[in-house]
Amino acid sequence: MAWRGAPRAARLLLLPPLRCAAGRRRIASCIDPSAGLTEQQKEFQSVALDFAAKEMAPHMAEWDEKEIFPVDTMRKAAQLGFGGVYVKPDVGGSGLSRLDTSIIFEALSTGCTSTTAYMSIHNMCVWMIDTFGNEEQRRRFCPSLCSMEQFASYCLTEPGSGSDAASLLTSAQRKGDTYVLNGSKAFISGGGDTDVYVVMCRTGGPGPKGISCLVLEKGTPGLSFGKKERKVGWNSQPTRAVIFEDCVVPVSNRLGAEGQGFSIAMKGLNGGRINIASCSLGAAHASVLLAQEHLTVRKQFGEPLANNQYLQFRLAEMATRLVAARLMVRNAARALQEEREDAPVLCSMAKLFATDECFEICNQALQMHGGYGYLKDYAVQQFVRDIRVHQILEGTNEVMRMIVARSLLQG
Ligand SMILES: Cc1cc2nc3c(=O)[nH]c(=O)nc-3n(C[C@H](O)[C@H](O)[C@H](O)COP(=O)(O)OP(=O)(O)OC[C@H]3O[C@@H](n4cnc5c(N)ncnc54)[C@H](O)[C@@H]3O)c2cc1C
Repeated sequence: MAWRGAPRAARLLLLPPLRCAAGRRRIASCIDPSAGLTEQQKEFQSVALDFAAKEMAPHMAEWDEKEIFPVDTMRKAAQLGFGGVYVKPDVGGSGLSRLDTSIIFEALSTGCTSTTAYMSIHNMCVWMIDTFGNEEQRRRFCPSLCSMEQFASYCLTEPGSGSDAASLLTSAQRKGDTYVLNGSKAFISGGGDTDVYVVMCRTGGPGPKGISCLVLEKGTPGLSFGKKERKVGWNSQPTRAVIFEDCVVPVSNRLGAEGQGFSIAMKGLNGGRINIASCSLGAAHASVLLAQEHLTVRKQFGEPLANNQYLQFRLAEMATRLVAARLMVRNAARALQEEREDAPVLCSMAKLFATDECFEICNQALQMHGGYGYLKDYAVQQFVRDIRVHQILEGTNEVMRMIVARSLLQG
């Protein structure tokens, strides 16, 4: 399916700075995502935007409609270093900072938010192995994950434990130098189609301290998958339950020490929250551009919609909210890079703010398209559908509020 006006979203980002009304002086767009970046960051951004425009945007409707997991396109993205963006170079990663990563995912997301969001989860898993794995584990798993020859899934949520993730029940019983896994995970992104599963499971007593983190490979006897879930958005990536029935996993596949699994999972999610928020920024930016264009082209009451002051004000609000959200995300990314104590809370704040604001921006952009916005021929509806779930996963936005409030009230 070809979009009407839509794959242009990513391309529009590559346009030179806008002309001011008088047309004499060139001014930078007030929503320009490259504002304030270093020359090197502008380079990564331009490569990612170009990839989004050429390799992703033309296919995003078809991937959504036919539920295609675009493995080959992601492998091409990995050739540009996007398979292990913040993973260390000695195991095939790009060794970039959290801010660089946010810039890249924001840019890629303008081309296909759903595919970029999966890539962000994959990156989080590789980072967890790189950071908490021993040398043997890093060398065994990371290179083929960074090249996206293999794909990874993050397995925390269970049918009975979502927001209260620390109450998970999947058990890993130690038998000599193996663990025997029993239980199931729900809603696993990539589940069934991916090769490496980073699984949080219970090796000890109740609560977070009884949780460990194991890496399982597809093909392990006893590992199976539920049916592919039918979803509102995020259709270019499969979501399935992951089931463990007497699944034997070597102890040498455990990341970190026994009992460290919940902490590893949460550390992964700090970056994951910045990444998913960055994907929302990309969708919102693309939607603002689509709305801007539609208001200019569409005429009602004898003149372009862009002449209507109400719509002008709404567009101005969308742009303002987008820039505010981007500042929050980049501020959190810097804090995480500097390993500041307040980083986890800032990541939660950024995820809460950016995913809520960006959903409102995309939804308002759809509204500005009138009835056309509701048609699948127009890209704006896909951005709305794809980013709705960012308010739910990687910790719901209610859980984000709990984290922020706890930090304020408990010091
Ligand atoms: C498409 C998709 C992909 C996903 N991918 C993954 C993945 O790859 N890996 C993974 O591990 N998980 C994944 N998830 C799961 C996701 O992280 C959970 O859905 C999420 O954490 C919420 O859990 P839940 O659905 O069980 O909702 P619940 O925890 O049952 O919450 C229901 C509602 O109640 C609210 N709520 C719960 N407790 C409180 C409270 N104390 N105070 C206020 N409000 C509260 C929640 O915020 C929510 O609005 C995915 C989910 C989806 C939809």
